[in-house]
Amino acid sequence: MRVGGDWLENANTQRVMRALEDAGYQAYAVGGCVRNALLDAPIADVDIATDALPEQVQALAKSAGLRSVPTGIDHGTITVISKGEPFEVTTFRRDVSTDGRRATVEFSRDMKDDALRRDFTVNALYVARDGTLVDPLGGLPDIRARRIRFIEDADKRIEEDYLRILRFFRFYAWYGDPDQGPDPEGLAACGAHVDGITRLSKERLGAEMKKLLAAPDPAPSVGAMAACGALAQVLAGADAQYLAPLVHLEQAHGFVPRWQRRLVALGGENPGKALRLSKAEGRYLKAVRAAMEAGKGPAVTAYMFGKDQAIDAKLVESAMFGQDLPANFLPEVERGASAEFPVKAADLMERLGTGPQLGLELTRLETLWIDADFRIGKDDLLHA
Ligand code: ATP
Ligand code: MG
Repeated sequence: MRVGGDWLENANTQRVMRALEDAGYQAYAVGGCVRNALLDAPIADVDIATDALPEQVQALAKSAGLRSVPTGIDHGTITVISKGEPFEVTTFRRDVSTDGRRATVEFSRDMKDDALRRDFTVNALYVARDGTLVDPLGGLPDIRARRIRFIEDADKRIEEDYLRILRFFRFYAWYGDPDQGPDPEGLAACGAHVDGITRLSKERLGAEMKKLLAAPDPAPSVGAMAACGALAQVLAGADAQYLAPLVHLEQAHGFVPRWQRRLVALGGENPGKALRLSKAEGRYLKAVRAAMEAGKGPAVTAYMFGKDQAIDAKLVESAMFGQDLPANFLPEVERGASAEFPVKAADLMERLGTGPQLGLELTRLETLWIDADFRIGKDDLLHA
């Protein structure tokens, strides 16, 4: 079977793979690019597997006139750059020992070793420079069935690296068949090992959850995570039940997925901290939650908390109450986001000076103006 596409056929990919092949080594595109090519999904970056040792990869890149960076030389990865496009070239490896997150590896000449240390069958497919597909572990039927299945023993795979629990749900969210449900054996193994999630760093959890929640419809996957206990380990108090109605509303009204909005819909205790999000991300989530609590209409919410915050708050709120969006939703949000309080401090200074009275009066008038849905003009406000 052959796999094609610009990602493989373009000059940069061909140049890097040829540099290895011309010297007598194997070179295969592997992992996400092959999986996504077979699923007709967008391809982010092209990873290459080879039996050349890292030092040999560096030397060959150099003689082909390509820049290389030893990004992960200890575990076998050299980034080779062709015309600005980076390729991670990684030597075939086998795991010597594992500790639940990181593996100690040794290099191998055998593709099958390399395939066996990967996580899922759909991620262990290889494509040669001419497009020939190599499938050492029989991942192709799983691709066709959109089945995310652990390679060999699911329990062992997870004990080697607990991050794979999160990856199982992420790949299922993006590429699985929601009608079939997650692979039962994989799901059971994830459920049996949820305690291992506490061994992962919060940054890792955050990075995985962001990617998972950005899927077109993460609800079936997050529902399965909740049912097997993984969700509670990732984010205490999180509740998956509003996610499906939220996604339904998003799709009905043409809103693009945003992980932040989906995360707000999950609730839970301090997601900013549990997932070690950035300060700005944490602030954003808090603002959306505050916007929901304020219980104002779309325009006032947008004025007080910002446009995106108001959109996300109202979408989540509507999902929670099982309602459609408020009438005239986006124009209302726009109206509030662009509203400008017409009274300035200078308008009151003559009367009130510059002391605390001034601030209090400004706040009082702004509240009046907001409560009147921004429909009182400056002159009326100054006499209110
Ligand atoms: P995407 O980049 O679209 O998220 P991907 O499959 O490329 O998906 P990466 O995290 O970039 O995912 O990893 C590349 C490949 O490396 C995977 O396809 C898989 O074969 C292997 N891999 C990555 N992380 C692990 C892991 N924790 N355990 C086993 N194999 C892994
Ligand atoms: Mg990748």
